[in-house]
Amino acid sequence: MRYRCYICSSTFEVTTEHYRCDCGGLFVLEIENSVLEVDRSDWSLWRYRSLIPVITDSSSTPTISMGEGMTPLVADSDGSFLKLDFLNPTLSYKDRGSVVLVALAKALGVKEVAIDSSGNAGVSVAAYARRASIGAHVFVPESTSPKKVRQLQLFNAEVHKGGDRSFAALAIAEFLDGRPEIFYASHVYNPFFAHGVKTVLFEIFEQLQMRLPTEIVVPVGNGTLVLGIHEAINDLKRASLIQTGPKIMAVQAQACAPIYEAFRQVPSSSYSSPTETIAEGIAITSPPRVNEIISAISESNGDVIAVSENEILDAQRGLLQRGVDVEPTAAATYAGYLALRKSGCIEDACVVVLTGAGLKSR
Ligand SMILES: [Zn+2]
Repeated sequence: MRYRCYICSSTFEVTTEHYRCDCGGLFVLEIENSVLEVDRSDWSLWRYRSLIPVITDSSSTPTISMGEGMTPLVADSDGSFLKLDFLNPTLSYKDRGSVVLVALAKALGVKEVAIDSSGNAGVSVAAYARRASIGAHVFVPESTSPKKVRQLQLFNAEVHKGGDRSFAALAIAEFLDGRPEIFYASHVYNPFFAHGVKTVLFEIFEQLQMRLPTEIVVPVGNGTLVLGIHEAINDLKRASLIQTGPKIMAVQAQACAPIYEAFRQVPSSSYSSPTETIAEGIAITSPPRVNEIISAISESNGDVIAVSENEILDAQRGLLQRGVDVEPTAAATYAGYLALRKSGCIEDACVVVLTGAGLKSR
């Protein structure tokens, strides 16, 4: 197991203090092929640990777990399904990646981690770091909802708040410079994260009796969910369990749609990002892994769509009428699903992944 630079293909040990290549390229994780063996006695995402990268003896049960994963898949109208992935320990799907990332930090003997986040990833990493007795610094933009900031403080994280999301990314880079002992537990830079997130597709595969939907609708900002699903599709293909994966249908907010613009080759003037959107989880103006995200969506024969603020609010209300309370970022995903359904782009049963709980945003 080692890191490979996405740009120049240089390789690094996973114990490296670097969080990206000297050329500026981001790491992808090279892992040996292994077999998908589901440990049915384990009621957490670690039931798929045969395919989750850990740097300890993979046969031993990881010590850091809060029963993450195993979220409900419930029927929606039109034969589609909602994957209620906000029902994870910190009420967001990010716990899938955090548990794997913090397990890595623990195995490396790290005492402190740092992460920049629009909110959910920070809360999630802070919770798991706390559980692993590791200190956490979390860099969040000024606009992060007070509830998420309060949660960070309750987990004893040191909160560095200010500027917009890009400012938080710059501030943490400055903070980490000259502090090699602090582990950058980034859901964007560290590829272990996506290998935890990928378990969402293994679960759907089990829940649908060893089949996958034709389409899977997900939000896209920094692309951790898109990249995780891409990894899972590759794993299931390698295991000869599927021939083709679902089409990845990724949703952005029109107010901040750099991936939509790049994928559709729409001039950015027509969707003048960055502007404010209530979907704070996907308000990412320049996603570092944009090329990987676009190739993952293309490879799946998927698409990217952008939804308006009104569509997001309507979708949130629509879900509430079904008894489902999600935050605006997850409502944007459902809005994307409704738009795709209306335009006839989705005819078969699909799965919509709902990523963050409503309580976090109000
Ligand atoms: Zn490189």
